[in-house]
Amino acid sequence: MKIKAHRLYRDDGSKISYVRSPNQSSGTIKPRFLVMHYTAGASASSSVSWLTNRDAKASAHLVIGRDGSITQLVDFNRKAWHAGRSAWRGIQGLNSHSIGIELDNPGILKGAHGSWRTSWGRPVPDTEVFILSDGFGNSSVGWHTYTEIQLEVAREVSLALVRHYDIEEVVGHEDIAPGRKKDPGPAFPMTAFQSLIIGRDSDEAEEVFETTTDLNIRKGPGTEFEKFDEVSPLPKGTRLSILESQGLWRKVDVLDIVNNEMDIVGWVHGRYIDRK
Ligand SMILES: [Zn+2]
Repeated sequence: MKIKAHRLYRDDGSKISYVRSPNQSSGTIKPRFLVMHYTAGASASSSVSWLTNRDAKASAHLVIGRDGSITQLVDFNRKAWHAGRSAWRGIQGLNSHSIGIELDNPGILKGAHGSWRTSWGRPVPDTEVFILSDGFGNSSVGWHTYTEIQLEVAREVSLALVRHYDIEEVVGHEDIAPGRKKDPGPAFPMTAFQSLIIGRDSDEAEEVFETTTDLNIRKGPGTEFEKFDEVSPLPKGTRLSILESQGLWRKVDVLDIVNNEMDIVGWVHGRYIDRK
């Protein structure tokens, strides 16, 4: 996949389907983030119809179907209306700073094993349901899985966008509008998409990062690993360099002295550090 004049093309130079949405702002943007969404709709074509209808007052740059089909609705350097009220890393209103990618998916399902349905009643087979339990065995929520081809196409497109626009981070709508939005949800492999950025950024290792909040540092890449009690949490603004990445977690060398401790090496969650 490649990008020319802010539109998407296949590697052989053929054009990706383009249906212009009127739901966009004038002027240009310089995208820094990819925002992943699910449509909560019945099909990719119904979502394209809706997002190109003025009444929707919403749009996205791309819609990716369950069969891997792609439709572009807005040029990548134009402000599409996908994020709504949103904030991330101190930035308000992510539409002005991001590319929005919609994946055809009905989202949260109703029902239970053997009787899952979309919010509008269409049956969904158990084999297409990602179940998230509440962790206490009391209840569980079902989400429609994404298809393999859909995720593969989304990955290829994202990689092309990350390279072309020097994208800093891939986030979910749920991250930038917490409490208001649930997409793309737990069935979306966000960690794998995050690593598209890390893979690209070979300079990351030499850069200095800092904690953006008081942040626990742990003996392994996950909250199941013990914290280093004597230095946790690292105070906000602690300087770090990155040694290694695993999903969203970063193995870091702490450059500052914390509680009289020097040369601390451990794992922190990558969401809470930023380039200094
Ligand atoms: Zn969304």
